[in-house]
Formats: sequence, structure tokens, C-alpha cells
Amino acid sequence: MMPFSDIKKIREQIRTKKISVQEVQNVYVDRFKKFDDKIGSALEIFSNPEAPQNPDAPLYGIPGLIKDNICQKGRIASCSSKILENFVAPYDATAVERFKIAGAYSLGRANCDEFAMGSSTETSAFQLTRNPWDITCVPGGSSGGSAASVAAGLIPWSFGSETGGSVRQPAAFCGVVGLKVTYGLISRYGLIAYASSLDSIGICTRTVYDSALVLSQITGPDSKDSTALQDVKKIDYTAQLTGKIRPGMKIGIIDNALNAEGIDAGVRTLLDDAITALEKLGAKIERISLPSMDHGAAVYFMISRAEAASNLSRFDGVRYGYRSKNSEDLLELYENSRAEGFGREVKRRIMIGNYVLSAGHADAYYKSAKIVQEIMRQEFLDAFKSVDLLFMPTTPCPAFKFGAFKENPLQMDLQDYFTAPINLAGLPAISVPCGFVDGMPIGMQLIGPHQSEELLLQTAHAYEQAHDWHTKYPEWLK
Ligand code: GLN
Repeated sequence: MMPFSDIKKIREQIRTKKISVQEVQNVYVDRFKKFDDKIGSALEIFSNPEAPQNPDAPLYGIPGLIKDNICQKGRIASCSSKILENFVAPYDATAVERFKIAGAYSLGRANCDEFAMGSSTETSAFQLTRNPWDITCVPGGSSGGSAASVAAGLIPWSFGSETGGSVRQPAAFCGVVGLKVTYGLISRYGLIAYASSLDSIGICTRTVYDSALVLSQITGPDSKDSTALQDVKKIDYTAQLTGKIRPGMKIGIIDNALNAEGIDAGVRTLLDDAITALEKLGAKIERISLPSMDHGAAVYFMISRAEAASNLSRFDGVRYGYRSKNSEDLLELYENSRAEGFGREVKRRIMIGNYVLSAGHADAYYKSAKIVQEIMRQEFLDAFKSVDLLFMPTTPCPAFKFGAFKENPLQMDLQDYFTAPINLAGLPAISVPCGFVDGMPIGMQLIGPHQSEELLLQTAHAYEQAHDWHTKYPEWLK
């Protein structure tokens, strides 16, 4: 078995008994041992992974890596934060439960930005994750460990989480496929909340086919999550992956996004090539403009911080995780536990969140942001009256160096410009590799209306199969 095999191939080899489930596991455990001290994608590789049970199940014997803000029963779920460093999850997230039923299993926990807050995985309290294509660059974030491990061939699939782009952006930086689904398509039960109205579990894989394979096993209603979509039927998302796009397909290029200030010239060239390729595949290309997108990052900034402040109030040193040892009374216990347990970025967001929700400011900030969110959402829905899918960049530039935005955190937030609007509108989107700039991978983004995952995957797959980006990997990781 080749280390850079996709799930489809590994599954075939297990089925035809060319390789055993144990041998597959050994290959990946050995690769983590050999390479992950340089990459830092995993916080933990289990010494005793749960053995998959049902040989007839669709993902039998396929290991994955799970972002550390997703609960795996009996395992630590730290959110890469000191405050939850020793917190052991009492139950499986629904998505975890479902991939286990499908025969897959988890090999460990993926590093991420603390509480999924960041675009570079630099805010993890524990370690840096490095981009496998150039270890002096970030892997993106917040699901940096999830994307880097798949890109490095250390694991065939991983879970990340999306609030404003945290699966698509690192997928683009690391040259893998990143899927963010319609809000509620995958249950949030067991995903530790950052901004609940935007949060969603996402999938990183080497190919679009693999993304569809994993997705097919984890969707569906869930009585434990009232925001999970209740009316979804079980779909085999691989069924439409013919290598062709749907006849008569119209793709709307979001022109103001493509021409946004600050897009790297190399990225721009690759995106123009991708548009030409989609046209060659038979898509009808239309140019449209979504003016409210320009406010996406600002709106996301306020709504995500407001919800984070509220969600993170539960970490008080009493109920979960870290408790300060040097406190005289209860108030001091709260204050010291939070002061010592949370990192800088998380504290900054809690403070901003409480500010935008405070009595004197909620109307000016939080409520205005909610109004603009609705306008944006409407603008997307209107666009889908005339086109089937939308197209824009995933990120403005290739992966950047560590510390690039140290002096300017606001500049880091602009990384979310092309991704956060999609979470604000609750839409599905996928980032697919579309080439390299100076040796670093670049992603393009396709966006669809609510619950259009089939069409989205079909189109992304056709594009992918017409290229060979997905067969490339960093040579030193052979
Ligand atoms: N980069 C964004 C942020 O810092 C997105 C994070 C996410 O999607 N979890 O909030």
C-alpha cells in the first residue's frame, strides 16, 4: 500500500485481502512516528485505537484523525487549550459514532487553533503544526492538524470543524480537499461550541470521491442536536461522481471576490485557468457580483465573538477542565482559572464578544451584524435563482510564514474574507486544489445552495479528474 493512497484504493485492497486492517494501521502509525515530529499534526496517536468491528461496513478498517474539539468517548478533547488539557470526553460526537458504525476508526487527535480560533494553527496551546509542502509555512487553520496530516500522507481522512473557513482554508494551504456542508447536515452534537449558529464538522481528504464517501456515512437527523436538519434522507454522495458535470450547469463567478484587492497574482492566474477548465467541461460561466460579501469578514468577526463569549463562559474552573490552585474565594477561582487556562487569542475574542453584546453596544454592533448577515444570505439566495453554483478563491494567497501577522491580528482576520460569508449564509462549499504557486498548493472554492452537496461534489470531482493535482505530494514525505 502506498502512503498517499486514497480511501477508495485502501478499501479495495482490504476487501480483496491484499492487505489486512492491522497492516493498514501499522503503515499509518509508522508514518506518524517517522514524520510527525517535523509536522506536528497530531496531539496524540492512540496506543490502543478501537478495533473496527463490521467487515461488511463501507469504510471498514479506514483510519482517520479527529480534530481535538470533537468528542471521542474516553479520550481527551482539549480544543488545543490548556483549560481542557485533561478533559476526557464522556461520549462520542454523533459524527464519530456514525463513522464507527460505518467501519472506520480514529487513530488520534489533530492539533488546531485554540477553540478553533485562528487561521494558522499558531494559537494552539501545545504545539505548532507545519505545512508539509514547506515546513517554514503555516498549514492554515484552525483545522491545521487535520489538513496537514492528510497532505503528508499520515492518514487518509480527517475531521476538522468550520465556523468561518477552518476546513477550507487549511485544505487550500495544504493541497487537499476540504468540505464544509450545509449548516445542520452533520450533527453538531459532541462538537465543542465556538459560535454555535455557524459551527459545523467538516471533512479533509485527498480526493473529492473520498470526501463523498465519508460524508455519505455521517449525515442525518439527530435528536441530540435540535439544529441538525431533520428532513434529510440518506444519500450516497458518490453515486453522481461520473467525471462529468451536469448538462446545462451554470456557474457564477463572484467577480468582486475574484478582483478583490490583495489577491496574489499567481493565485489569480490559477483561478482564471480553473474557470477556463470548468468551461471546457461544459459549464456555462456567468459573471455576477455580490456586493455585501465585502462586509462578510466584519460581520463574522462580531457574530463569532459574541457567540464565543457566551459559549466559553462555561469554562469556569468548576465544571470542566483546568482549575487554578491559588484562589481565596469563588470569584477568584473563576477569574484565575480563566486567566491561566485561556490563551491570548481566546481572551481577546471573549472580551470583544462581551463588548459587542453589552447593553450599551449590542444595537450598534451585534444587532447590526445580524441585519447585514440577513442581507448577505438573501444576496446568495438571489444569486442561486440564476446560477447553479458559485465560484471564488478559497484564500487570497498561498500559505504564509509563521508569525507573518504577529503584529497585525486584524490582517489575519482578513484570511476569512472568502470563507466566512458562506458560514454566515449556512451554505455548503468545497475547496479543491487548483495548482501551485512557487511550490505551494492553492485551492479554488465552489459554493452551492442549501443541501446541494451532490451537485457540488459532482462538479468538484469532474474538475479534479481533469487535472492531476490530487496525485502530487511533497517528495520528502515519500
Ligand atoms: N479563521 C476563522 C477564525 O479565526 C475561522 C475559524 C473557524 O472556522 N473555526 O475565527
